[in-house]
Formats: sequence, C-alpha cells, structure tokens
Amino acid sequence: MILDNLETLQTDATLPAEAEVVIIGGGIAGVTTALYLAEAGVKVVLCEKGRIAGEQSSRNWGWVRQMGRDPVELPLTIRSLELWREIDRRFGIDTGFRETGITYVCRTRAEVKEFTDWSVYAERAGMESRKLDRKGLQDVLPGISETYSMGLYTRNDGRAEPWRAVPQMAMAARRLGAVILENCAVRGLEQSAGRLSAVVTEKGTIRTDRAVLAGGAWSRLFLGNLGVNFPQLKILGTAARIESSAKVPPMPVGGGDFAFRKRLDGGYTVALRNANVAPIVPDSFRLFRDFFPTLVTSWRELKLRVGGQFVSELTMPRRWSLDETSPFERIRTLEPLPHEPFNRITLRNLPKVFAGFADARQTHSWAGMIDATPDAIPAISEVERLPGLFLSAGFSGHGFGSGPGAGELMAQMVRGVTPRVDPAPFRLSRFRNTHSEAAARAA
Ligand SMILES: Cc1cc2nc3c(=O)[nH]c(=O)nc-3n(C[C@H](O)[C@H](O)[C@H](O)COP(=O)(O)OP(=O)(O)OC[C@H]3O[C@@H](n4cnc5c(N)ncnc54)[C@H](O)[C@@H]3O)c2cc1C
Repeated sequence: MILDNLETLQTDATLPAEAEVVIIGGGIAGVTTALYLAEAGVKVVLCEKGRIAGEQSSRNWGWVRQMGRDPVELPLTIRSLELWREIDRRFGIDTGFRETGITYVCRTRAEVKEFTDWSVYAERAGMESRKLDRKGLQDVLPGISETYSMGLYTRNDGRAEPWRAVPQMAMAARRLGAVILENCAVRGLEQSAGRLSAVVTEKGTIRTDRAVLAGGAWSRLFLGNLGVNFPQLKILGTAARIESSAKVPPMPVGGGDFAFRKRLDGGYTVALRNANVAPIVPDSFRLFRDFFPTLVTSWRELKLRVGGQFVSELTMPRRWSLDETSPFERIRTLEPLPHEPFNRITLRNLPKVFAGFADARQTHSWAGMIDATPDAIPAISEVERLPGLFLSAGFSGHGFGSGPGAGELMAQMVRGVTPRVDPAPFRLSRFRNTHSEAAARAA
C-alpha cells in the first residue's frame, strides 16, 4: 500500500564514473544531504537500492516536532524546523509541510511529570512550548475529553506528508545537478592508501574519496562488512489511515494510548503511541549489553516477538565480497506486516479522546522498521576506521522531523565547513567498541 501511494520521480539511468560525494540510501537523511550538497555546487550521486523513500521515510506518522526531544538533540531539531519552514519556498517544491503546532495531552500522573520536566528544557532552549491546563486544552483542542487535565503545546511544530515530501526533495536535488539512481544497491567500498577511493554498486564502480552511508535500518549490516560495529536494532512501528467525520483541529495530537495527524488527503494517520514490537533477532543477543539499559526503561512500550525474522536474519550473509550479490539486492524494500492488534486498540481509544471519532473507519494499515540506537540519538559522524566515510543513521523513530537539519549538518561536515549545529552529541565513537577488533568480529 505504501509503495502504491508513494510519489514517483524521474531518476537517472546512467551510473557516473566519478563523483565528489556518493550518498548510500535514499531516505530523508540521504536525500537532504544530497540536496544541500547539490545546492552548494558539489557533484553528488545518490544510490538507492529500492525506491526513494521506500522504507521508513514514507511510512512515518508525518510529525515534525521539537517537542519532547532529548535535550542534546534539541539544537538539531530546532534548526530542522527552521529548514522545514522554508524548504518549499527555497527549492520550489511541495512537501505538504504545515506549521500547525503539536499538542501532547496527559491523563496520568506519570505523563504530567514527563511533560512538566520537559517544559523546563523547552524554556531553557527558548522554545515556543507552553503548558496547558484543562481550560487551555479546551481552547487549543475544542471538544477534547475533559478527562485530560494537562497538555503541552508547541505552536511552531508541524506536520508534512511522508508519501510526498522526500520524493519532492529528491527532485529538487536532481534539478540542482545531483544524480539520483533507484534500484542501485551499494555493495561496499574500495580503499587506497588508507582512505576511501571508490563506491562499488551492483551497476558498477564510482570513483570518489567521500561517501555518506544513510542506509537507515541497513546501516549496521553495511558497516559490519567493513569491520565497524554500529549498535543498531530494528523496531517495528505500526500505523493506519482512517476516515472519520470528526471535526478536530488540524494539528497532530498524542496521548498515552493514541496519536493522530490530519492528512492532506482528508483522512488521518493514527497509531498506538508508545507501542512497538521488538523482533528478537541474532543482533538482539550480540547487542544485549548495549541495549539493556534502554530495555529496562522502555520495556512497557516494547512487545518482544520471536518470529520468522530471527531465521531470515540468521541466514542472511554478514560478510560478502564486492563481486557477489549483496543482501541489499536481495531485499529491495523492507515491507514488514503491521501489528493489527495495535490498530484495533487505537480505533477503540480515539472516540474516548474526541467523540467525533466514533465513526472512524480504517482504510489502510502499514508498518516500518525503525532503526534504533542504544541512546535513541542518531550517528551523524565520520567513521574513524575509514577516512572518507561518513554515517547518518540511527534516527530512532524521529528522523523525519530532524531530516533536513541532519542533511544540512552532514553536508557541512562532508564539505569541511564549520557546521551550524554542534555535531559532538552525534559522533559514532560515543558507542562502546565500535572500532575494536573484537567488536568488528561481532558486528
Ligand atoms: C511507523 C513509523 C512512524 C514514524 N513516525 C515519525 C514521525 O512522526 N516523525 C519523525 O520525525 N519520525 C518518525 N519516524 C521515523 C522516521 O521515519 C525515520 O527516522 C526516518 O525516516 C529515517 O530516515 P533515513 O533516511 O535514516 O532511513 P530510511 O528512510 O529507512 O532510508 C534508508 C534508505 O537506505 C536504503 N539503503 C540501505 N542500504 C542501502 C545500500 N546498501 N545501497 C543503497 N540503498 C540502501 C534503503 O533502501 C532505504 O530506502 C517513524 C518511523 C516509523 C516506521
């Protein structure tokens, strides 16, 4: 369903023999990097193994928010919102971005505490977030159930259309001179004199001394073949589209057990907030020590599941040579099945938030594999073991909103200009054992 609705774009057919920078992966992280590099006049080639935005970047809820972010990530997300606000005008595209504001609503004491604590950071960062009492909530969200006693509202957060935004950005990059290739998996890299010298794809080799890996959930596998241990696990996120005659404000709203966003096609994207499935796979054991602290704090939000994915990942090659078919050609697009019980609960919960949702009808459902790191902060970084290689991945369920900010930051790092946002919180080396020999064997 997702791929049927995903906006298509004109792409390139010929693999260039050389480039100043090659981007591996055509989700929002890779495409925005290509866009800002192309705008700066850099000769850039982007290779996507399937379709532009075929994985997470078209499957997300479409929330573009600063609110609730980890304080170390705030400068990046604040910058990203600034870029979202200007992106359509700056590049002559239509991403569907609207500055609608976003509201979180609270019912339990734990929820009230979470958002009260967070509003302190917001104030320190000078953000336009404000706490709402019951009356304030009714002003911002007229008709919301009186059972919600508090809310947190950020006026200048927003939303965009995932099925359209990234293809539109890729078209803009192409107009600025970027070469964009679909169905072109990158198998690996060649090195010469201790630094990157070429990117090897299924269609041939591109000579370059700089590459950006923006491979989403595939980044760990790609780096493992190069002897780098990137701690990243996949988490299954489920969502649905509904139709309803409910009259609710057009902003995304989230509570403890629901989330919804009005879509430009008239429906709503809805989901059970704080509920994801964590498939048990061989990497769950390899990375147990890295993720254990997260598991302790978030176990309520995760449903552990042993299923077919264990076997498919166990039998997937973790090492391959550049002249043989790589795993990236075997699976062009990750198409996981949604966890329908979550959608059924969401549909039951929504009328308890806004009575108008009583007539809600699910029209589609889908899922995406979220790529998570142990601290839920992405890596936007050089890869020390391999001079010339950069990594932009591990967005842990919020990379759509921070996509343009991450793209601008990565483009600045690759060009060697002073970044606007401090990249220190995003360095790869903050993780344990990324480059040791033992870890490389385990990767
Ligand atoms: C259900 C769900 C809801 C979400 N909701 C939100 C939200 O509301 N707001 C928000 O900010 N974020 C949200 N997210 C997270 C957000 O979608 C992601 O963080 C973001 O899209 C990640 O972008 P990316 O470019 O890093 O990865 P992806 O979009 O996954 O792109 C990676 C691309 O790399 C390609 N690739 C991988 N390896 C290779 C290779 N070797 N050669 C060539 N190509 C390769 C893949 O095919 C893929 O297209 C949600 C995610 C899900 C699944």
